[in-house]
Amino acid sequence: MTGMEQALSALKQYFGYDAFRPGQASLVQAILEGRDCLGVMPTGAGKSICYQIPAIVSKGLTVVISPLVSLMRDQVDSLEEAGIHAGFVNSTQSADEQALTLAQARQGEYKLLYVAPERLETPRFVTFAQQVNIELLAIDEAHCVSQWGQDFRPAYLGIGDFIDQLSHRPKVAAFTATATEHVRRDIVAMLRLRDPYLAVTGFDRPNLFFDVVKLETRDKNRWVCKYIQDHKSESGIVYCATRKETEELCEMLNRHGITACNYHGGLAPLQRDKAQDQFVNDDVQVVVATNAFGMGIDKSNVRFVIHHNMPESIEAYYQEAGRAGRDGENARCTLLWNESDIVTRRRLLDMDSGNDRLTTQQSELVKASHRQLLQTMIGYCRTTSCLHEYMLHYFGQDLGQASLGLSPAVPNEDMVCDSNDGGEEVSKSCKTCSNCLSTFATIDVSRMARTISRCVHDVHQAFGAGKIVQILLGSQSKDILDRHLDKCPSYGALQGEHAARVRDVLNQMAADGYLTITEGRLPLVQFGPKAAQTVRGDFHYEIKQVQRKRLTVTDRGAKSDLT
Ligand code: ADP
Repeated sequence: MTGMEQALSALKQYFGYDAFRPGQASLVQAILEGRDCLGVMPTGAGKSICYQIPAIVSKGLTVVISPLVSLMRDQVDSLEEAGIHAGFVNSTQSADEQALTLAQARQGEYKLLYVAPERLETPRFVTFAQQVNIELLAIDEAHCVSQWGQDFRPAYLGIGDFIDQLSHRPKVAAFTATATEHVRRDIVAMLRLRDPYLAVTGFDRPNLFFDVVKLETRDKNRWVCKYIQDHKSESGIVYCATRKETEELCEMLNRHGITACNYHGGLAPLQRDKAQDQFVNDDVQVVVATNAFGMGIDKSNVRFVIHHNMPESIEAYYQEAGRAGRDGENARCTLLWNESDIVTRRRLLDMDSGNDRLTTQQSELVKASHRQLLQTMIGYCRTTSCLHEYMLHYFGQDLGQASLGLSPAVPNEDMVCDSNDGGEEVSKSCKTCSNCLSTFATIDVSRMARTISRCVHDVHQAFGAGKIVQILLGSQSKDILDRHLDKCPSYGALQGEHAARVRDVLNQMAADGYLTITEGRLPLVQFGPKAAQTVRGDFHYEIKQVQRKRLTVTDRGAKSDLT
């Protein structure tokens, strides 16, 4: 039998599955051929199989590095149930238990051994690792190695040194659901992957209808209530940003005759379990929750996920929204947002005191990365293009090699990309997102765009969007006069226009690269890479605006009549 035939037979024998999912086969094959790998797949896509199958069909030991100590026992139990010998060593065990597990692993009793990254720093484990034949080192949640990631964990930085101490270098397979260029580059560089095979797959969820609705804060609850009343037979999740919001909204839904429970980290464990059971068993139609809800919850018939506020990143959004339609049937993911969500998110980022295990420099990098993640989330809310495409583009599934963003300075730039594995592609009009179903009016805003650009020049790129709009509209506010901004050549150049329109155009120019908005506590409007085009005589600029007519999506049984 070839390696892949063995792999398929193990998939059937131990897991009962007939076929690999997109991306899995090529990753398994690459590992069996002895290559390092980087697998980028969303949560739930099946990353574990990618290293468990090679572990089963290989002779030596597979060490799995996982940050989630609390899940190790469950993972090992389910492998043992399937007839695969596995163990774990972590801080929940006594010293004797740890020693026993290592002794058993040394005698070849396990196919897989799970450890947390901190374990690799202990002399006892290093000695163990030098004595056994580690064939594969699988690194779960590999983005934790990156200071640009959401979940930087300093111990991941020691993995490269750990590998260097081994007399025989194992194959190294890293897995993550995080997609940003910085993070991928860090994974390759910090884990010292050699000529890694890259697979980016499984991000497209064609059965999900994505919908973005811009709404004033005061209208959000009413919108949610009406949506749920119109979909009485459907189970759904509403995500809110704060505990208080979940309580208020839940109460309102109950008052309107909707069976809903709420869930957040402030509830006692018993209350949380109760809420979860009620939702999973369909005793309530809706759970109103913070992002504490969802991990490990397996409910396949969730028909809608509504976000009451803008999440902090596309990754977070995709993971939460992705809890809809697990059964493959159609489901709807709606994101309600407005400009004040952005202000709130930025404030939360600034207030975040960070992780006290990080140095000041590391904390700054983490913050900068969070700002960048938020910026991409804002882009999702503002885009008038296909929402599926935006997401696939973000996760790099449609980009292949380019998505790695590997500059020649980084080793392994000749990574192979398998982005088309599974043949997932989104057509020009996907028909499963609100943008592709909306009609847009195209408005010529060339003059306005040119004027905005001139104002940014006049003020030496030293002011934020609010001030620029005030200057252009000719505001008489005290601050403008005190700073003599009324002397600026473009002062009042857009007098009579609506502030909201000027802001929209400015934001769109930033999204399109004519301007950039700097990150930081006081974001400044500066020139973007395409800024020079705005002074050209033939400069033409249009923006699309969704027609404020009622949008009805009958084929999904979902009406969004408050757009
Ligand atoms: P991830 O680690 O990517 O979040 P998991 O490895 O936990 O995902 O897998 C998610 C679920 O998908 C598990 O229940 C797993 O058994 C299932 N699964 C994985 N691969 C396959 C497959 N080839 N066919 C069917 N189900 C699969």
